[in-house]
This record gives sequence, structure tokens and C-alpha cells, in this order.
Amino acid sequence: MTLHLEKVSFTYDHNPIVSNFSITVEKGEFVSLIGKSGSGKSTILKLIAGLLQPKTGQILMDTAIPSPGSFGYMPQQNLLLPWRTVLENLMLHSEIQKGNNYTKEDVREWLRKTGLAEWENALPKQLSGGMKQRIAFLRTILTGSEVLLLDEPFGALDAFTKRDMQKWLLSIWQELDKTILFITHDLEEAILLSDRILIIHPQQGVEELKVDLPRPREAGMIYTAEMVKYRQELERRITDGLD
Ligand code: ADP
Ligand code: MG
Repeated sequence: MTLHLEKVSFTYDHNPIVSNFSITVEKGEFVSLIGKSGSGKSTILKLIAGLLQPKTGQILMDTAIPSPGSFGYMPQQNLLLPWRTVLENLMLHSEIQKGNNYTKEDVREWLRKTGLAEWENALPKQLSGGMKQRIAFLRTILTGSEVLLLDEPFGALDAFTKRDMQKWLLSIWQELDKTILFITHDLEEAILLSDRILIIHPQQGVEELKVDLPRPREAGMIYTAEMVKYRQELERRITDGLD
């Protein structure tokens, strides 16, 4: 299904944050949102996730209002429940989400597939930052939603851990067939992961850059001349704004 945002506007206390924002995201696409801090990126994901209501405009899957389970949302702060083990954290959606029943065995299968099996009984406080983000991401997958909304999932990680996570995410996404909307302030990361990058210019609209690097992508690509060209182009567009 195709996700459409049609002329969506949103204000916090008369303070316009998102104005007449329109985008289309195709099934299976990996799309990143970048833009200066405060440009409304997180607000846009919350609008799509249904946590905020647009003041005007509409959000559609194909031509219909999306059902509550359409989106798996991973907020900027990690929200693993500290008193629950990894397995118990991952069972959460099966417990609370109507019509989404999976078993502990299903979760174990995911843990095995993603190289996390040995962490099944660990508590969040025993996990490194990168490991917590992997578990939070798996939990987002387990919503069973077709569209994953990821708000700076690797933003707080050091450069080496981030590199590992990008590799890990790409390998999973390749076999997932999910649509991903991904916020990052790391331009290299946006280029390496995305099919398209949407550059958010606050109050002025959105610009798009298509990334024509071949897939599968691998981390070494960040050193190629093509990558540098994309980077320069992105930096220029972010700084210049729309004319
Ligand atoms: P980004 O994710 O691009 O950094 P946000 O969507 O978080 O931007 O925020 C966009 C703007 O909305 C910012 O100026 C921020 O201060 C403001 N804002 C965010 N949340 C609230 C809120 N709950 N109440 C009032 N203003 C908010
Ligand atoms: Mg944000």
C-alpha cells in the first residue's frame, strides 16, 4: 500500500510547525527525513503514527484512512520497560495489541535470526546502547505493521556502533519487505540507507533527493566519490533552503 500525506498542516498553540506538507511513500521504500533541528521531523512521524491529529489535510494508505495497526512507531527515546527481560519486552505487542498474536517461540526465532538469541533473559540495564536499540527495533517490527516509523534510532550511538547498526538494519530490511520512514541528522547515514531523502525546510516545504546507489549497500560505500557528491548536494540544499 502507498502512504500519502496530502497538504498536512499542524500547529502547537498557534505556532505553525508543519504547513501544507505532502509526500508519497511507496510500499517497500526506505525514505529518510532530514532537516535542521526543530524543522518538524518528529512532529511529522507523530502525525503519521496517529499520536497527533493534523489541523488540515489528510493521511491515507492508498485511498483509505489507515487502521491503528498500520504503523510501527519507534520514538526517539528508548522505551524498553526496565523491569522486563528482553523476551518479555518483545512480547509486549502480543499482549496489548488486538489481533496481533505471536508466541514466545516467534520472538525467539527473531532473536536467533538477528543474532540476539543469547540476550533473551537479559534486563535492559544489562544491555549496551546499541543492543537496546536493536531490541527496540525488533519490538517495532513485532507490531506486524507494514510501515515502520523510526525517529533517530541510532542518534545517540557512537560512530562504530552506529556503523554496525546500519549494517544490521540493512540486512534485516532486505528480507523484510517493510516500508521505512527514518529520521536522522547524519547525512552519510541517510544516503547509505535510503532510496529517497526528503529534505524538510520549515515553513517552506519539502525537497527530494533520489539516491541511485546500487543495492545491496555496504558501509564501505561512504568512501566513494559518488557518496561525497550526494553529501555535498544534500549540504547545499539544506543550507540554501528553497528559492
Ligand atoms: P525535529 O524533530 O525536526 O527536531 P520537532 O518536530 O520535534 O522537530 O519540533 C518542531 C517544533 O515544534 C520545534 O520548534 C519544537 O520546539 C516545537 N514543539 C515540539 N513539541 C512541542 C510541544 N509538545 N509543544 C509545543 N511545541 C512543540
Ligand atoms: Mg526530532
